[in-house]
Amino acid sequence: MPKFKLHTKIIIGLVLGAIFGAIFAINPNKLELNTGGGSETVENWQEFFFLKKDSVIKTFAANDQLVIIKSYKALKDKKDVKLKIKLSDGSEKIVENVSSIEKVRTIGVMLKPVGDIFVRLLMMIAVPLVLASLIVGAASLTDLKHIAKIGGKTLGFYALTAVVAISIGLACANLIQPGNKMDAVSKERLMDTYQDEAKTRIDQNVSMNIVDFLVNIVPKNPFKAIADGDFLQIVFFAILTGIFLVQIPSDKAKPVITFFEGLSEAMIVLVEKIMIIAPYAVFTLIAATVAEFGFNILQTLLWYSLTVIIGLTILTFVEYPLLLKAFTKIKVTDFFRAQKQVLAVAFSTSSSAATLPVTMDVCEKRLGVPNKIASFVLPLGTTVNMDGTALYQAVAAMFIAQVYGFDLNLTQQLTIVLTAALAAVGTAPVPGIGLIMLLIVLRSVGVPEEGIALIIGVDRILDMCRTVPNVIADSLACVVIANSEGELGEILPDADYPGTM
Ligand code: ASP
Repeated sequence: MPKFKLHTKIIIGLVLGAIFGAIFAINPNKLELNTGGGSETVENWQEFFFLKKDSVIKTFAANDQLVIIKSYKALKDKKDVKLKIKLSDGSEKIVENVSSIEKVRTIGVMLKPVGDIFVRLLMMIAVPLVLASLIVGAASLTDLKHIAKIGGKTLGFYALTAVVAISIGLACANLIQPGNKMDAVSKERLMDTYQDEAKTRIDQNVSMNIVDFLVNIVPKNPFKAIADGDFLQIVFFAILTGIFLVQIPSDKAKPVITFFEGLSEAMIVLVEKIMIIAPYAVFTLIAATVAEFGFNILQTLLWYSLTVIIGLTILTFVEYPLLLKAFTKIKVTDFFRAQKQVLAVAFSTSSSAATLPVTMDVCEKRLGVPNKIASFVLPLGTTVNMDGTALYQAVAAMFIAQVYGFDLNLTQQLTIVLTAALAAVGTAPVPGIGLIMLLIVLRSVGVPEEGIALIIGVDRILDMCRTVPNVIADSLACVVIANSEGELGEILPDADYPGTM
């Protein structure tokens, strides 16, 4: 058995997971009907009806698996409801007393708990790591002037990359016009299938008021912020604590800083150990996503998905390399080679926060960024810098507007630049939040919020894709800022992931 390096194993896990998931994909024409006395499966129906007192209340077609499940769940009173199923051989069957309807699970999704444990372990590390490393990072930047300088550079760099990212997204959406390629029937079907899920997201009622947004960054209770995993509030508290630890007598500050230094180092060592299971975890996560994903919907939303992916590709492989070349002497290939496991973890977990411990380890031990810069720039970037999400929000807003027949003028598109940049800052670094924060962008240009029902079906896949540039931009900022401070060390050759083996 050849001995592969860890990052190679992770990539193999990713590819094999996708193949495994495709082989053991959930059958889109098969359903499990749970009745009081057990369960039965039906397959290959041609038509599917809900009956009440023997009259048809809803009719579904062969490819309506998801609509059937969701519609049955949404029925308020299931008592007298019967299912009539017309099978492909022409026969009919009636099923009564059905409590729930589900997809039939396969081994493709059954291994997912391994991946879930991996993601939970990384998330478990993320909050203490952000807190501890930012306190240490801010405290090690010695004086307020230095912190303001590094903080200013970091935020400036993040703002620059976000505005360019959003502009790339808008350009792609204007050129490709994905919304104008969608027909009315597909629109109706998507709205029917996902309107309940859209409503749940809309009910979360995100605030678009910039004043509220800024006020909310200040935690009333930092311990609650930590318990809730509210990253912006944690960042605010940690930076202030770090700054003021330097202002008090060093005999009092030292033990506190040493405590957080120890906590942060322990978290990093822990992540190196957790990464040992990464190849298997990545395998199960990707297998489950592929097995569960309804590829039909990808067809319906092909132009939209392609527009987002083309935008993200330009961002990652054109904008970032140009910035890397402009601001550092690092070779583009060396930079991306060092990022392999960061990319695989970001893609399979869809979470910048879960990826943060890996990003920190790689920046410090592979890219030669000193701890005091990495521990300040990366947690801040994970929280506020989401170029991929910002680009996606711009494309999504344009797409929904196009489907609804709105023609957004230049001023409205400039409004998208501003609101998407803000919405991305407010997006928590965990899966799926970018979609909720998109509501802010939609509201700002008067596009109906219910429109998110159109894109929910492909959100998970696009979330995986947008999380990749979200984390690469953080590493990029890290090397750019370290370099500008004259503190960038040597980049390590393509050695194995430090400390893992
Ligand atoms: N999943 C993204 C991240 O963690 C956030 C989002 O766009 O939903 O970076």
